Amino acid sequence: MPRNNNETDLEYKRRVIDIKSESFCGAKWYNATIWLGSGQTTSCHHPLPHQVTVADVEANPKALHNTPKKKQEREQMQKGERPAGCEYCWKIEDIGRDNISDRVYKTVIYTDEELETAYAQPASNDVDLRTLEIAFDRTCNFGCSYCNPAFSSTWVKDIDTNGPFTGLTSDGRNHFTHSHGSSQLYKFGEVNPYVEAFFKWWETDLHRSLSELRLTGGEPLMSGETFKLLEWFKSNDTDMRFAMNSNLGAKDELIDRLIDASHSIRHFHLYTSNEAMGAQSEYIRDGLIWDKWTSNVDRVLESGNLEGFHMMCTINALCLDTLPEFLTKCLEWKSPAGKDFPTFSLNILRFPSFQSPLVLPDEIRNQYKVKLQQWFDANKDNALLHQFELNQLQRLIDYLDVVKTPHMGAAEQSVLQQDFKKFYTQYDERRNKNFIQTFPALADWYTTL
Ligand code: SF4
Repeated sequence: MPRNNNETDLEYKRRVIDIKSESFCGAKWYNATIWLGSGQTTSCHHPLPHQVTVADVEANPKALHNTPKKKQEREQMQKGERPAGCEYCWKIEDIGRDNISDRVYKTVIYTDEELETAYAQPASNDVDLRTLEIAFDRTCNFGCSYCNPAFSSTWVKDIDTNGPFTGLTSDGRNHFTHSHGSSQLYKFGEVNPYVEAFFKWWETDLHRSLSELRLTGGEPLMSGETFKLLEWFKSNDTDMRFAMNSNLGAKDELIDRLIDASHSIRHFHLYTSNEAMGAQSEYIRDGLIWDKWTSNVDRVLESGNLEGFHMMCTINALCLDTLPEFLTKCLEWKSPAGKDFPTFSLNILRFPSFQSPLVLPDEIRNQYKVKLQQWFDANKDNALLHQFELNQLQRLIDYLDVVKTPHMGAAEQSVLQQDFKKFYTQYDERRNKNFIQTFPALADWYTTL
């Protein structure tokens, strides 16, 4: 275990991190997200991604992670200086002297020895990753309302066919005005030097150094590179934790291949996403067919070799109507398969904020809060629920409480509501949907906007 028994976060920080420097973070050495379609990387999800050059990865595949920028930031961290891109952590720490920021949680997952090695070596050294998230490309058969063309080829097709969304004025508007060509530099069938570099690094060192690989997208099952990687697992035995995000809306043949590949992987964790029932989920997650999706969940639970199965719920303004029923559906899945199949997480959508729950009028928000509170009270002693699931539910109930989380200034909320109406009016036309029929509980409010 990286952490001593019973050690608090603060004790750990003082013992392992502070003796190195005031700004050390293990993620700068050992963790990365790499978007191979665009050739961009970052250390964790807080600093903005930066570009890796083709020349660098052609000369050295490890440059996918060991960029000049990260090396410079490692040097800063060795000296106790704060890289500007890590502002998210500095802000938390500046609130109070002993505040624990994400850099503690992103460091504690590595061993004390690994961290000492990182700190003691020259910042110019190349480091092999321990934890990695990659996306091969943005090919995806879904075009969810809260996603955008940077992550979905279905969204690209919408913008290319129908033009930009118009009239949006709040944050996130630029997500829907262009097809984000810089997110996918190489067309289907073209050689992508970033993907080539990844597989070279994988063969030489990466498959040995990684304790966890997470594959995201787009929809990974629609990328040929995913199956190239899965083939590797068939002929190599490894203790690596392998996690994949999938919308589970792919063709039967691809789900068959996923199930087949899962039997070659010792620690396979599958993540999928949904947060509403039936027609409402089909509206929010455009491309999803409810019956097909639920039968694919059934199939992977029955026939896949899964160490974990996780339901990621993106809590937006539209899912709250049927979220309690959806959580009951999760309990139904857990019932025969056990409390880990699936676990669920409730991630509150913040951007684009015109799709966040805070766009709803107080009265409706409160009704949804009451329904969720009732679900919580009825299920809080259910042995199939983890404490962290109950904690997230309580956090969401507090968030929806108009007293505990008053909506932003009234003027600002009215701007978001205007964008909400403008967005979904255009979404209906482009995707052949009908907001009012699908969300009757919101219809009266929606028509007055
Ligand atoms: S210091 Fe914070 S923002 Fe920077 S890499 Fe570490 S966890 Fe991420």
